[in-house]
Amino acid sequence: MLGPFLLYCATPFHRFQYFSFKSIHMRVRTILFAVVFAAQSFCLAAFAQQDPIVAAIIKEASENSQLKRMSHELMDGVGPRLVGSTKMVQASDWAIAQYQQYGISAKRENYGTWRGWDRGITHVDMISPWTKSLEATQLAFSPSTKKAVKGETIILADVADSIAFQQWLPNVKGKFVLIAMPQPTGRPDYNWKEFATKASMDKMVQERKELTEAWRKRISKTGYNNRTLAAALEKAGAAGIIGSNWSQGFGVNKIFDAYTKKIPTIDVMLEDYGLLYRLTESGAAPTISVLAKSKELGEVPTFNTIGEIKGTSKANEYVMLSAHFDSWDGGTGATDNGTGTMVMMEAMRILKKIYPNPKRTILVGHWGSEEQGLNGSRAFVEDHPEIVNNLQALFNQDNGTGRIVNLGGSGYAKSKDYLGRWLSAVPGTYKDSIKTSFPGMPGGGGSDHASFVAAGAPAFSLGALNWSYFNYTWHTNRDTYDKIVFDDLRNNAIVTAILVYMACEDPERSSTEKANKAAWPTPVKAKRKGN
Ligand SMILES: [Zn+2]
Repeated sequence: MLGPFLLYCATPFHRFQYFSFKSIHMRVRTILFAVVFAAQSFCLAAFAQQDPIVAAIIKEASENSQLKRMSHELMDGVGPRLVGSTKMVQASDWAIAQYQQYGISAKRENYGTWRGWDRGITHVDMISPWTKSLEATQLAFSPSTKKAVKGETIILADVADSIAFQQWLPNVKGKFVLIAMPQPTGRPDYNWKEFATKASMDKMVQERKELTEAWRKRISKTGYNNRTLAAALEKAGAAGIIGSNWSQGFGVNKIFDAYTKKIPTIDVMLEDYGLLYRLTESGAAPTISVLAKSKELGEVPTFNTIGEIKGTSKANEYVMLSAHFDSWDGGTGATDNGTGTMVMMEAMRILKKIYPNPKRTILVGHWGSEEQGLNGSRAFVEDHPEIVNNLQALFNQDNGTGRIVNLGGSGYAKSKDYLGRWLSAVPGTYKDSIKTSFPGMPGGGGSDHASFVAAGAPAFSLGALNWSYFNYTWHTNRDTYDKIVFDDLRNNAIVTAILVYMACEDPERSSTEKANKAAWPTPVKAKRKGN
């Protein structure tokens, strides 16, 4: 097909102007050669890739992807998955039902308890000097208000020392205290870099540095830290705490948990926080109305959700898929860690369909309470020595929606041998962008594979391309379905399924000999009771 096209294409060009024809002709030829070459490489790759299981995994992932449907059901249908929340239970029920549909057995495994709390409505309005509904979120585990509470705002005073602060404290009675530094700009640095003069960018950076340092001093002069300050303000009769945790992008704040016991702690988005701050500072005395509905549920079970495809000849050896299931709840936890969850669920679905009788047992761990310190995976490691000691490999994903671009050997001396062997089965399209590092470093605690590595088990992180993860989605109010890049998720489900398949089939056990014993992290105990 390409041959005649080349002839046909070349001929008419000869009839046009002589001067340009030569360069056009050359260019067309170059392009066509490139096309022919690419097509040949594609054919060669297709022939070279002979393993029918690998081919079937790719076909299933490409032609019958369940990623969009599952992501919609989990992120939009259930929502965020804060530890101790009803949604976390709903999410677990949903995942178990999905696995049942796929013919995979799955169950919830309790490992402790946590303070139960369900988010409700947050409604924050400025009612004076003019009216504006503010973009605001009650922090997780923050106390609620029974009805809308009205009060003036007051800025945390810049006092000489802790004695002066105690004297100032009665001023907060009945007021909402603004405790966050006012950002000098709501534009991210990349925007300044693109449009500002160098002098003006330098000036802004300097100003922000000074402000940050001054604010740090302002807090420390109170005699409290960020955590204890809220409690002191509460004790002094404040109506509520207003913070603003900017995530250094347009329209993004990070939403974590509150330190107050009776009054609400609210995060107000940078834009609206700046408005309140400037009006308060200039003496306009804004009044706000805060309605923060949430429900305390008492002590509730906290758990992991575990799925299993039983092995055949080596059923007592394990290959694990891993991704934490819990999230913060400013958004819907789409990229932290909905996407890791989706990759593992889709890989499990594909494996069950294409490779239903694995040599080794395949397990998937959807961990609880990763965000409070890898608690679910640490508890699993403590509770299941029979699995940890017989682990062939664990693959964890937890840094956003991007394609897998990093795979390290977690500090195991021989990791290159077996990971290299398994990776060799992955076609170039899916693995060419993966940078490997062997023996690599043992994960210190960034995500759940670290819980297994600390116990000396072969666990690895599938590191993803960041897609502005740290500023825009990680723990922010914008971590939502629309940020998911489904092509990358499909890519990752394919890579994960092939690695798991290869690890299950490998006649050799993976070596856990450590490259540097001295630098090995020590296991940390799971927190099994949280409040
Ligand atoms: Zn995460």
